[in-house]
Amino acid sequence: MPNFICQCTSPVPANRKDCPACGRDCGFPNVRLAAAPEEVAALEIRVADAYASTAARNCSAQLDEFGNSVSHSHAVIARSLKVVDDLTHSDRNYYTSYQAQVQAGSRDPEDNNWDKVRTQYESALYPNFQEKIIFACLTLSEEGMSGYGGFSILLKDEMIGHRASLFEENPHSFIDRHNILMNKPIPPGYRAVWDTKSDLAKAKLHHKISPNTTIVDHPKILQTDNGGTGDSDFIEVHIYGSLNRQAISKVIGRKPKTNEDRIIWRRVKKTLVSIGAEVVEL
Ligand SMILES: [Zn+2]
Repeated sequence: MPNFICQCTSPVPANRKDCPACGRDCGFPNVRLAAAPEEVAALEIRVADAYASTAARNCSAQLDEFGNSVSHSHAVIARSLKVVDDLTHSDRNYYTSYQAQVQAGSRDPEDNNWDKVRTQYESALYPNFQEKIIFACLTLSEEGMSGYGGFSILLKDEMIGHRASLFEENPHSFIDRHNILMNKPIPPGYRAVWDTKSDLAKAKLHHKISPNTTIVDHPKILQTDNGGTGDSDFIEVHIYGSLNRQAISKVIGRKPKTNEDRIIWRRVKKTLVSIGAEVVEL
């Protein structure tokens, strides 16, 4: 990955947001990585392949329609009621990255196959700034992956689009599927910036498009929820920095089963409405 060059002509290391020579803001490092010429060129080749494949199967128009839908998709984070309660409590409460929470001692890695290797693949994706990245899911259904929690926090595009990059799939599955050794960089063509998210979706999912595909099929083509953590398939949204409750457009959840949780949920709903966010109870 060549260094980014600041307008002052100094090279800026890939992990830095500010120029080390002049201090100018050089943009979000994850967005810079996704916008690098070799990433853009490699993704364009994949999109061309997607159109060649769907043309041969008489469904290029259906691929176009799928791309149009995905251009209106959003980022969603599924978490537990407790996390939603903490985040919505005040403007001064932040949702921070997994790595930042572990470093701060406010969260411990879970004893599962995913968390054991999580630090390695996150640092392969974002060398030396992985603690800045929040993980979300690209969605057309407005629901997150249930394995991460029963409450879906839908984010406002305005608050995240400029600092978000997209990645093909769960990095753990990606590394497995492509037989990538952890001492090798991630190959180009599997990332996108927010405005080209539909290109990444078309490149990844064209094999699921057929002449019979219609708009009602699009949400399930984009996301496959298989329950547990790390078992589902979706395009990841990687957001630089933290966020607070003002970034929430909507929270979707089922009415909790216990009295204690119902009291919390009632409080959360009231707070969300007071800050102008929508609530949907399923
Ligand atoms: Zn500079």
